[in-house]
Amino acid sequence: MFPSECETGFLIMNTKNITHNFTEQFPGDFSGNLMQRQTPDFLFCTVKPADFHQTELIDFNEELSIEIGLGNLENDKDFLVAQNLPNNIETYATAYAGHQFGNWAGQLGDGRAIYAGEIFNQGKQTEIQWKGAGATPYSRHADGRAVLRSSIREYLMSEAMFHLGIPTTRALSLSKTGEDVIRDIQYSGNPQKEQGAIVVRTAESFLRFGHFELLSARNQADLLKQLADYTIENFYKEINSENNPNKYIDCFQAICDRTLKMIIDWYRVGFVHGVMNTDNMSILGLTIDYGPYSMMDGYDLEFTPNTTDLPGKRYAFGKQGQISHWNLAALANAVFPLINDSEVLEKILDNYGKQFWTEHDKMLAKKFGFDEVLPEDERFFTEWQQLMQDLNFDYTLFFQSLEKPSSEIKTDGFSDSFYRHLSENEMTRLSNFIRKYQERKRKNKISETESLAMMSKENPKFILRNYLLFEAIQDAENGDYKMFFKLKEALQNPYENRFPEFNQKRPSKYDNQTGCSQLSCSS
Ligand code: AMP
Ligand code: MG
Repeated sequence: MFPSECETGFLIMNTKNITHNFTEQFPGDFSGNLMQRQTPDFLFCTVKPADFHQTELIDFNEELSIEIGLGNLENDKDFLVAQNLPNNIETYATAYAGHQFGNWAGQLGDGRAIYAGEIFNQGKQTEIQWKGAGATPYSRHADGRAVLRSSIREYLMSEAMFHLGIPTTRALSLSKTGEDVIRDIQYSGNPQKEQGAIVVRTAESFLRFGHFELLSARNQADLLKQLADYTIENFYKEINSENNPNKYIDCFQAICDRTLKMIIDWYRVGFVHGVMNTDNMSILGLTIDYGPYSMMDGYDLEFTPNTTDLPGKRYAFGKQGQISHWNLAALANAVFPLINDSEVLEKILDNYGKQFWTEHDKMLAKKFGFDEVLPEDERFFTEWQQLMQDLNFDYTLFFQSLEKPSSEIKTDGFSDSFYRHLSENEMTRLSNFIRKYQERKRKNKISETESLAMMSKENPKFILRNYLLFEAIQDAENGDYKMFFKLKEALQNPYENRFPEFNQKRPSKYDNQTGCSQLSCSS
């Protein structure tokens, strides 16, 4: 199917160009039945979004809309709340499975994400989804709705990640549904009414590890192969898909590479996903499903923002490398029937573990302004990490304190990043570290100016801290969106200090505030 063209040959950008290549190729249940159920023979079900009568558009990302080929939706804003859809749009939800907190969870699926289909612009495919527009067969006893609070978090954070240069799904619009939704935020038996909302999100594809795990668990080898071929042909075009007996191996390797890049970027900026279940892992290495995530304030390898994760801290900041590896091993198991060679898969996975540390060191070197990783740097990084862990400096502000000609770095330049009073001993540790850093920097072959220019591109000056989101959400729930829009502006230039008022450590009043340091999965 090709997008419509008007007589002058210009592409008309609108929702009429939405296609359904996925649903045309894969087996689906077209009954439209919304009853929650297992769908063993199908990869998707058609579903109808709920009716919403008093929707309110809060924000529309027109630039993204034009970029993907939807245009400015001038007379088409109902599309953003999944109402009055044109006939060409067949809405559906897909089935996937996954490992949650390390355990096989069986069929999960899009419980509240509904696909509009795909749109193509300049050879690039984008899938479009409403999140929170209604229940699907995969809603698993839940309502298929999303609340304003979690929708603001997904809307702003996915865009913040994009502007930080980190692979991510994106956000096209945020609307209120006009409906109340009941949620028990702290799972304390205290359900409350919250405002319902819809985020329209986009990605080249929303396929997850879990889609492959589902087909594999069902022993549907032909479908598994078909899905892998679809993935390679559409999203891994760099892989030769014809007459290539190794194409599935090459694809698995490429998935590992993209996942690694994403995880290293998370470490670079201090992002903690919070729910790295395999159903929340994108097959394209995109950051996906923004739930109880957090940017890290004080450095702590054990920090997990997710209250559900607290007992085991499986998804803590310092474990994300290891867990991505675990998740890739689960994917390797799922795609094994296509490859039938455990040795080659094990080798790729082993290599991932090694590659992780190589890339992690390279990333740290850039943050520190080193032109290369020297053999002795491993020790320097380990000592630095221990210092950060023990003294709990603000991760983002700490690196900003290093961003000056190294002879000018003094201990008092770090006081903005302390979360507690430091003892004399601890201050001595800091000054010893500074001395070692200055010595190390002298080994650079690049100039100080070049080194500082490199650091400024790696170390953000704006991160979307949870307490900022918390404030924006509180205001928005009372109809005041000033903070929301200010954050939206700030996140667009994260490497410039345009909003010094946001470039601050978390105020102590928020230390134990639910929604700031810790979040539940309730969304
Ligand atoms: P998550 O932990 O948010 O990735 O969600 C895990 C599964 O639960 C996915 O299949 C979601 O689509 C589903 N889910 C989460 N919240 C809801 C909800 N309010 N209604 C329906 N399904 C949901
Ligand atoms: Mg999810």
